[in-house]
Amino acid sequence: MRIVLLGAPGSGKGTQAGLLKSRLNVPHISTGEILRAAVAAGTPLGIVAKSVMEAGALVSDDIVLGMLEERFGQADVQRGFILDGYPRNLIQAQALEQLLAKLNLPVDKALQLDVSEDLLLARLAGRAKAEGRADDNPQSVGNRLHVYQQQTAPVIDYYQGMGALVRVPGEGTVEVILERIISALG
Ligand code: AMP
Repeated sequence: MRIVLLGAPGSGKGTQAGLLKSRLNVPHISTGEILRAAVAAGTPLGIVAKSVMEAGALVSDDIVLGMLEERFGQADVQRGFILDGYPRNLIQAQALEQLLAKLNLPVDKALQLDVSEDLLLARLAGRAKAEGRADDNPQSVGNRLHVYQQQTAPVIDYYQGMGALVRVPGEGTVEVILERIISALG
């Protein structure tokens, strides 16, 4: 199964993708994780991305698409995939559609995790303490939520228009949400 996971920062995409990948036996591809690894390794791409990510802004479409093309060149994606953190805007949604059409691996479902803003803020504050992610400070969080509303939310309509959108309430325990996702995927 080929899935795009959508949802605001703090909606639980990363957590659920980590569980889903074992259930579905497909790779989890997180553009945020690939970028964080590049930052940690100090690669040229990581050096460019670091300050943008810390500010809670989006890394340029070209850079992220290049990373994604490289990742989709690996053989494991033939089994399916869970894509988490991409697309973040309509340009990326179109680029992804073209890339996947070329590979003959079109998206089956776009899964939107719906979470109220109060809960998003509470979860991100908790994660800031637990994980110390550089972009979980209050200012970056505010910016990331703004970017999500302005640029990423329209991607939901994009997948709805394609008839691929599935919405799942992302509130409750991790296990309950996972089961909701599995049944929504059908
Ligand atoms: P995430 O782990 O998905 O929340 O991503 C963390 C940060 O990485 C984001 O706030 C962006 O700065 C950057 N990032 C991740 N995915 C993308 C993307 N598809 N396009 C642009 N920037 C991204």
